[in-house]
Amino acid sequence: MNRREYLKLAGAMATTPLMSSGMQSTSAGEPAKIECSLSRLNLRHTWTTTMSSSEFRETVQLRYSRDGITGNGEGAPIVRYKEFPESARRAIESVSGKITAGDPLAYRKMLEEVRQALGPGQHAAMAAVDIAVFDWIGKKLGVPLYKFFGLDPADAPVTDFSIGIDTPEITRQKTREATDFPVLKVKVGLKTDEPTIEAVRSVTKKPIRVDANEGWTDKEEAIRKINWLESQGIEYVEQPMPAHMLEETRYVRSKVHLPIYADEACTDAHMIPQLANAYDGINVKLDKSGGILEAIRWIEMARALNLKVMLGCMVSSSCTITAAAHISPLVDHADLDGGLLVANDPWHGVRIEKGKVLLPTGPGLGLSPA
Ligand code: MG
Repeated sequence: MNRREYLKLAGAMATTPLMSSGMQSTSAGEPAKIECSLSRLNLRHTWTTTMSSSEFRETVQLRYSRDGITGNGEGAPIVRYKEFPESARRAIESVSGKITAGDPLAYRKMLEEVRQALGPGQHAAMAAVDIAVFDWIGKKLGVPLYKFFGLDPADAPVTDFSIGIDTPEITRQKTREATDFPVLKVKVGLKTDEPTIEAVRSVTKKPIRVDANEGWTDKEEAIRKINWLESQGIEYVEQPMPAHMLEETRYVRSKVHLPIYADEACTDAHMIPQLANAYDGINVKLDKSGGILEAIRWIEMARALNLKVMLGCMVSSSCTITAAAHISPLVDHADLDGGLLVANDPWHGVRIEKGKVLLPTGPGLGLSPA
């Protein structure tokens, strides 16, 4: 896309229902500004994990404008980390002076100052700012973000498709609907794990990963379940036990063959070295790390510790999913289907074809309004 086409698109975006009124991009020389709103994402299926069951999710949408260019960002706060959409939006607005005063081309300094100003516990808010700033930088420099980070889009791993907890009948139906995906991720962690996996296996032989979302609290139960899952041809297990049960997880890992990944246990860079003793890999998400810059740091730390890396997501629009997809060439496994679960995605961005992650080639995130 050339600059003229981009500006036309930016104008069209200002009229989408998602955005509130008066959101024109700034012209060159005008002060930077941000605009923040909440967006309700309706889910195609009721989404159930061990944590919650929901029909919709609310995310924070952020527009960062400077020099006639607008970057778009998104944050998806979730209850598990005690983060909420409205408080995330207020947190961003409370540091708007820091965001608009900073130089986005000196993004390491700018984003660190915003992170300090937001304080702890606002990872999704920080993700929204980071993504919007990187979208802006890519547009300013006229390059897609994967290129800005020196990555080859051909290295992006296949993404799996997630199947939430449901009755065996609906699980079979969802598995059939996922025919286009070569790999599935199935949510487990309840008493119904065996019937759930048997329902999926009755329909498909394709590779399956499972995510227990901290659901097994007894280490012997976890060992039993994981060994049974191995007999069902499962590839790996995510977060079998509660995040704080590090010693128990280390014991479980010593008794099973399947690789164990940390998700809820991995919420801060400083935790990663201790996770290396109990897990085989970590699940990096922009809404946990607080955006792309810190996610890359997590990935590099994990590599230095010989940990595998998967790149996951919350339920989000294509804004966050596309941001994550741009750095997916850095990781072993991708779980970037959060946008596919949404019925009213406001953006077109990354495309998923037969599980293959196809990155947009436009500057920045390369988003266009849906
Ligand atoms: Mg998970």
